Amino acid sequence: MILIVDDNPDNIYSLQKLLESKNFKVDTAQSGEEALKKILKYNYALIILDVQMPDMDGFEVAENIAGFSKTKETPIIFLSAVNTDKRFITKGYDSGGLDYVTKPVDPDILMLKVKTFYRLYEQTQALKDIQQTLEREVEGRKQAQKELRSKVDYLHTLLESLPQIAFTCDHRGNIGFVNGRWFQFSDNEHTFPQTHPDDRPIATELQESLESGKPLEMEVRVKKRDESGYSYQLLRVWPILENGENNWVGTFTDIDAQKKAEKEKDEFLSIASHELKTPLTSIKAYMQLLDRKLKLDKGCAEAKYVNRVQDQVEKLNSLITDLLDLSKIDNGKLGINKKVFSLERMVQNAIDSIVQTHDQSNMELYRQGDISDLMIYGDEIRLEQVLVNFLTNAYKYAAGTEKVIVDCEVMVDFVKVSVIDFGIGIPESKQPEVFDKFYRVEETSFDFQGLGIGLYICSEIIRSHQGTIAVESSAGNGATFYFTIPLNLPTDAK
Ligand code: ADP
Repeated sequence: MILIVDDNPDNIYSLQKLLESKNFKVDTAQSGEEALKKILKYNYALIILDVQMPDMDGFEVAENIAGFSKTKETPIIFLSAVNTDKRFITKGYDSGGLDYVTKPVDPDILMLKVKTFYRLYEQTQALKDIQQTLEREVEGRKQAQKELRSKVDYLHTLLESLPQIAFTCDHRGNIGFVNGRWFQFSDNEHTFPQTHPDDRPIATELQESLESGKPLEMEVRVKKRDESGYSYQLLRVWPILENGENNWVGTFTDIDAQKKAEKEKDEFLSIASHELKTPLTSIKAYMQLLDRKLKLDKGCAEAKYVNRVQDQVEKLNSLITDLLDLSKIDNGKLGINKKVFSLERMVQNAIDSIVQTHDQSNMELYRQGDISDLMIYGDEIRLEQVLVNFLTNAYKYAAGTEKVIVDCEVMVDFVKVSVIDFGIGIPESKQPEVFDKFYRVEETSFDFQGLGIGLYICSEIIRSHQGTIAVESSAGNGATFYFTIPLNLPTDAK
């Protein structure tokens, strides 16, 4: 907006019309005092100031304007009757634009000057806006950097306080920060600790994780700088999102003592089960001899006792066999001998042995699904062991119910064998763990005997057949345990 200051209303009128005809917005003042009041209140792009005015002349008004920081840079065009000496004009007004036009005003010259000053004003305004935006941006960035710095400091303090070795790295695997404990294993902050020659190098494993964006968790043997041996560490590396980029935080947790204890326990189990197996086999054989020799009447009490002993010996035998299998799995020696065999024969064998050992039970066993012609490729004895295990569990955890179903379903490229019972079932939250080593559902573990290793062995057997194993159940509504085996026979076996 342009302010015209003149004591003569006619002059104001003609100037105002002239400027408005060129699309400028105009305000007016008829005295120096009125002009100053308006200048303090509003922002003007340009002031056109008559020099000769009663009370306060144009120069005085200009001097006052120069005194206010808000207005001192507002350009002024003086309108004077004569060619005014520039000395007077610049008096007290050393910044901002100044010019003059002599009266009578030549509209073309005045418009030229007005346009120049107006453009200047607009450009200055635009520059100011840009400067303000830049300042705001710089301030924002400074603030963000400060916040980031304090977050990073916090993270580093946190990592320093951990009892583990901790480090951070960027998405390319370049190590950024390492805590003090790092130097027990590595002599510089850029290299990972030395790993055992039989373990995969950490950098290689990490690279795969960084590329997939998935957290890394691995057990690895690393060497302490001042020791010759290696110790087991659990390495965990997790992505954290920082500035839209994935950075990673890693820790090494010492699990050496735990690993040693586990190894000792495995060794003990292996030795103990081996040692127990030998006398038990003798007991079993002598019991059979005794049974044959005594030729007892089926109904007599002695025959019942001999039967009970044989049942208990059988239970003991299967417990010890499970323990032996467990130690074989731990040592990677669970032998799997695959051949092509009839699934029907295997299922029937499992059912026969279960029905025989549970002849006191009132539970009826039903079959579903026809697999009479189906040949599959796998370890018949081991797969029978899985089915026997499912059935033993069904008789155990559904004791007192009326039936159990063995269902065989042939799909396009796999066969599914399920054991369906109507017993106590398993709460959904516990189901993912039932195939873990030594896991037993806590709520029911006191009511039933067991070691919690049967299903673990089953899952290992099915895994080595590239099959799947799972349970569907809900507490109180029975359970369906099933496994699937792929149907692709080896080419030479078809
Ligand atoms: P064990 O029966 O010797 O405890 P398993 O490995 O065979 O060990 O089974 C693990 C756990 O899964 C059992 O302790 C039991 O809690 C649960 N479970 C297995 N089968 C069933 C079933 N048919 N119904 C309910 N719970 C079951």
